[in-house]
Order: sequence, then structure tokens, then C-alpha cells
Amino acid sequence: MVDFSLSDTERDIRDWVRNFVQRELMPLEPEVLRRERAGQRGLTKDELVELQNKAKEAGFWGVQTPEEYGGMNLSAVMAALIEAELGRTYVPFRFGGYADNILYYANEEQKQRYLLPTIEGTRKSCFAITEPGAGSDAKNLRTTAVRDGDDWVINGEKTFITGGIDADFVMVFAVTDREKGANGGVTCFLVDRDMGWKSEPIDIMGPDERQPAALVFDNVRVPAENVLGEVGNGFGLAMQWIGRGRYLLPARALGSCERLVEMGAEYAKNRETFGAPIADRQAIQWMIADSAVEIEALRWLVLQAAWQVDQGMDSRHAQSIAKLFGATHANQIVDRVLQIHGGMGYTKELPVERWYRDLRLLRIFEGTDEIQRRTIARNVLKGHASLGGALG
Ligand SMILES: Cc1cc2nc3c(=O)[nH]c(=O)nc-3n(C[C@H](O)[C@H](O)[C@H](O)COP(=O)(O)OP(=O)(O)OC[C@H]3O[C@@H](n4cnc5c(N)ncnc54)[C@H](O)[C@@H]3O)c2cc1C
Repeated sequence: MVDFSLSDTERDIRDWVRNFVQRELMPLEPEVLRRERAGQRGLTKDELVELQNKAKEAGFWGVQTPEEYGGMNLSAVMAALIEAELGRTYVPFRFGGYADNILYYANEEQKQRYLLPTIEGTRKSCFAITEPGAGSDAKNLRTTAVRDGDDWVINGEKTFITGGIDADFVMVFAVTDREKGANGGVTCFLVDRDMGWKSEPIDIMGPDERQPAALVFDNVRVPAENVLGEVGNGFGLAMQWIGRGRYLLPARALGSCERLVEMGAEYAKNRETFGAPIADRQAIQWMIADSAVEIEALRWLVLQAAWQVDQGMDSRHAQSIAKLFGATHANQIVDRVLQIHGGMGYTKELPVERWYRDLRLLRIFEGTDEIQRRTIARNVLKGHASLGGALG
């Protein structure tokens, strides 16, 4: 039997987040816009922590973090539903109690120094694989780590590293065996900022909280005990980090699209031209209709990919499909909603242009549209994935 309904518990959790977004986050929206227009961060770090603590008091902490680390250990489907609710606002909020999935490969001693403080929110991580010459083609990385006594010495440059400006430590990927390359010759290192790497902010079109950094490693000496996992297994870890929840990115966009179309519909009903609301015009109705169809399709692609994760299936194909569809269609939808708002859509008085800039990133990071298509096509051509989807 195919069952598309939520259980009572799932509905309760989803509704709790929906209320939290409406009660705690949406009222902050005008102030977030005002600050961003003045070149400041939408939410200060203290405000974010205060909101996270408020959610924690209600038991909302570490959505997918294992219970033994104080988290809720919710399913992928639940995490997707929560992300969609958070996506309904542009207030840059995320629940606390989170750590990067690959930090769970840390040994006991590393867990104390890196994993636990990251979950607690007292230390901040960043993930660095991309380099000026290695983005989509991540296997082409050139940063090197050379063994020297009890240390490794890292040299190279990383770019576009989210959180790289504030991070206390970086999970950086470097070549430790040139011959083996990505097949056993790349290693992940946990490198504290005070070991000597430098970061330089990169200005982007999106909102400031997304601002990435270039990281420079100039003879940075790292003790051998800071290798994460095994020497040589870094590329696998990097792919695990990137694949940790590709469905969560389009899930967030799904919520944003729902809200945007609601705003567009509301505006269309109230804006009159030539003696009638623009909502009466077929040109506008079709934009709303196409958006509603795409939102519905996206919802099921996201939930289906998340469901495959929960079933322990190989969900990579479904996740690539959800990411590609979400990225391309969210961008079409925000463009239509901007169009419905006419000149007002192009101003900074409304949040539409902010969403327009923010959603554009979805087509680029964590696998561009083209790279998702490449993966999907390869799976189909090689017979790794059935066009019948999860039903076979
Ligand atoms: C705001 C932001 C945050 C980011 N955060 C991080 C982070 O935290 N950590 C990190 O390591 N990286 C991060 N990235 C890097 C991001 O993952 C890369 O930008 C992305 O993978 C694309 O790589 P690239 O920019 O080098 O583009 P390129 O790989 O040079 O691609 C350029 C264009 O060519 C296309 N292309 C490339 N190869 C093919 C092909 N085989 N077939 C068809 N088309 C192709 C691409 O799709 C793209 O359109 C971030 C990027 C941004 C913009």
C-alpha cells in the first residue's frame, strides 16, 4: 500500500515547527530586511543562539543528531518536513545541536575536541574541498599534505568555504599520495585555526550569512593525530559529507516556494490594472498554476528521496533528481513571483529579490545542475537506476 499521510507524531512535530516559525521567526522578518539593507547580518550570533535555546527548551535540539549525543534522531522524512517549514521564512535560522556527519568518524579523543563542542555550539566547523582549480571536478584537488616526523605539513588554497570566516576548525582535504589520487590518496585533516590557516571573505550576490571564504594553507603543521578517519580515505568522507542530505536543500526551497506563491497570489488579488485585479488575467493565473504544479511535484520528489534514505536504500539517484528539480524550478518560481510583483518585486522593500538571489545558489553548490544531470544520465545509461523509480 502506498500511504502519503503523516502519522500523528509526524504531524505534531511538523506543526510545532510551523508554529515556531510563525511565532518566533516571521515577526523578525522586517528587521532582518532592514539590517541587511544597511549591510549588517540579518540575525546576530547571540540572537540565533537565543532562538536555538528557546527551541531547545521545548525539546527541539539536534534534529538528526543521535540520541546518545542529546539529539532527537528524527527520520530523514521528518527532517525534510522540518526544513520545508523553516524555508517558509528568510530569517536565517537553523536548530542547534548539529554536527557534520563525518565528525562521527572521529576517534574518542577527537570527539571530545571537535564533535561534542560542535554539537554544543561552542566550536564551529567548516568543510573545505573546493579549490580554485577543483570544483565540480573535485578529484582534481591540488592541496598537499606531506608527512614530516609526527606532523603533516599542509600547503594549498581552498575557495568558497561556507563558514570559513568564523570557523574554529576546518575539515580540510589534501592529497597525501599523488599516484593514488582520489582512490586512496586523499586524506581529511581536522585543523584548528590557531594551527595557522588564514581566511579571506569572498563577496557574493546572496545574503551575508552565506558569505564564503578562501582559505590559505602555507606550511600549516598538523599533528598526525588530527587525521579524521584513515590516511587515504578522505575522498570517501568528502562524498559522504556532500551526500549527507542532498534532499534537505530542495526541501528548504520547497517551503520558500510555497510562501512565495502565497505572496504572489495575495498581491495578484489586490493589484488592479485596467480596472481589474491582475489575478483575473490568464497570464498571471498560469504563472500561479505552473508554480503550484511544480511545488507539488517537488514535495513528492523530496519526500520520496528522504523516504529512500529512511529505508536504507541507495538514495543517491533520487536525491540528485530532487536537488536538480528543486534548484531549477525554485528559480523559475521565484522569477515568476518577482514578475507578478512588477516593479515592486525588483525593490528591496519586499523580500522577493532576496529570495531570488538566495535561491540562485541552489543551482551551483553541492553539485551544480549540470553535475546532477551528469549523475542522473550516467545512472540511466549504465542501468544503475530504473526509470520506474523506487517502485522498480
Ligand atoms: C556560496 C557558496 C558556498 C559554497 N560552500 C562550499 C563549502 O562549504 N565547501 C566546499 O568545499 N565548497 C563550497 N562551495 C563550492 C561549490 O561546491 C562549487 O562552486 C561547485 O561545486 C561548482 O564548482 P566550480 O565553482 O569550480 O564550478 P566549475 O566546476 O568550474 O563549473 C563551471 C560550470 O561548468 C559546468 N560543468 C563543470 N563540469 C561539467 C561537466 N562535466 N559537464 C557539464 N558541465 C560541467 C558547471 O556545472 C558550471 O556550470 C560553495 C560555493 C558557493 C558559491
